[in-house]
Amino acid sequence: MSLIVQKYGGTSMGSIERIRNVAQRVAKWHDAGHQVVVVPSAMSGETNRLLSMAKEITPKPNSREQDMLAATGEQASSALLAMTLLSMGVPAVSYAGWQVPVRTDSSHTKARITSIDDTRVRADLDAGRVVVITGFQGIDDLGNITTLGRGGSDTSAVAMAAAFGAEECLIFTDVDGVYTTDPRVVPEARRMKVISFEEMLELASLGSKILQIRSVEFAGKYQVPVRVLSSLTDPSIPLDEERNSGTLITFEEDQNMEAAVVSGIAFSRDEAKFTLRAVPDTPGVAYAILGPIAAANIDVDMILQNLSAQGTTDFSFTVNRNDADRTEQLLKEQIGPAVGAGEIISDSKVAKVSIVGIGMRSHAGVASSMFQALSEEGINIQMISTSEIKTSVIIDDKYMELAVRTLHRAFELDQDRD
Ligand code: ADP
Ligand code: ASP
Ligand code: MG
Repeated sequence: MSLIVQKYGGTSMGSIERIRNVAQRVAKWHDAGHQVVVVPSAMSGETNRLLSMAKEITPKPNSREQDMLAATGEQASSALLAMTLLSMGVPAVSYAGWQVPVRTDSSHTKARITSIDDTRVRADLDAGRVVVITGFQGIDDLGNITTLGRGGSDTSAVAMAAAFGAEECLIFTDVDGVYTTDPRVVPEARRMKVISFEEMLELASLGSKILQIRSVEFAGKYQVPVRVLSSLTDPSIPLDEERNSGTLITFEEDQNMEAAVVSGIAFSRDEAKFTLRAVPDTPGVAYAILGPIAAANIDVDMILQNLSAQGTTDFSFTVNRNDADRTEQLLKEQIGPAVGAGEIISDSKVAKVSIVGIGMRSHAGVASSMFQALSEEGINIQMISTSEIKTSVIIDDKYMELAVRTLHRAFELDQDRD
């Protein structure tokens, strides 16, 4: 008997029929003698529906109230699941995050989990109940409900698996694992049976929506075995088969992985690029530009500084598109005038495409193969950033899908390696 945390995403919880499927799957694990904690997302579309109602009221809703609202999506789906389990004769109870409690800091809409109390949950598990706990939310020290950012149920599940000492955290979703890239964009993408923790961390941080980045960070910090697998299969699939399906995030590097130079491709449209033209090139100019951005709690991603004519420099950087308005305001009202910038250009029509692979460490020339493949398609690269195991480029967003398909082919990711 072991303790298993199972997370079900929005599509998996998307209708009463799907919730029945989830309940049957959970019942199978419970009947086999496992202790099961289930972390559901809101039914698909529900979080968007709630947030768009808030936006109808005001373009910038109060963030505490926004969390009060958004957290209800998971409360509804959790209660529906517990009800379904009970109606099938499976002992079950649901809790909202604040009842556990899942404690977080006070950064509304992007809170971080600080601790999870296991007392209540353990008592229920020991009494033979399935425990359903809302994903995506917690409570801060002042008693306010907080949410963890979009896709945050992944993080709730992995954090709970760590806190309860679960044997495994199963992330059930609408694809049957982690693919070489999003199979919706490249139908030839292949599922990986295992992916290294480092590669998963890079893919998630570079915009791959399959797992929220913080869930991968938690998995690494507490060495939680995480498996991504499909919730859309027949729920009566034998347990052993299910346990070996999908993609396991592994903390060991095996031979097979080293063979793949590039393992996956991530992409993101959540980017905005800013350029300050003709800034007088004096020591401290980078700090003068980026200091106030950092002070406003805005993360800067890529940075590019070019020398141009007459001792001036063109300075470009990217931020998340959600921070674009605040960044533009800071640049126009404060930073631009302070550094004597000639012109401030903002561009939200950019995308980031990245190749990721731990094999890149030991192979030279991978980045230039990437640039060559893009140039053969006439795709202009606006910015580049590299690390040991990834290369990212900023391009015009209208070429994003072409770039992903091109690179997938160029690095032969569609070829079977097993
Ligand atoms: P959930 O609602 O279960 O959390 P998400 O929509 O957040 O599901 O994540 C699953 C989706 O992630 C898939 O439907 C797929 O389109 C997308 N995705 C992006 N990159 C990948 C990848 N490398 N492998 C598999 N799926 C990916
Ligand atoms: N319901 C939340 C969202 O749509 C959290 C999640 O699904 O993981 O972002
Ligand atoms: Mg998700």
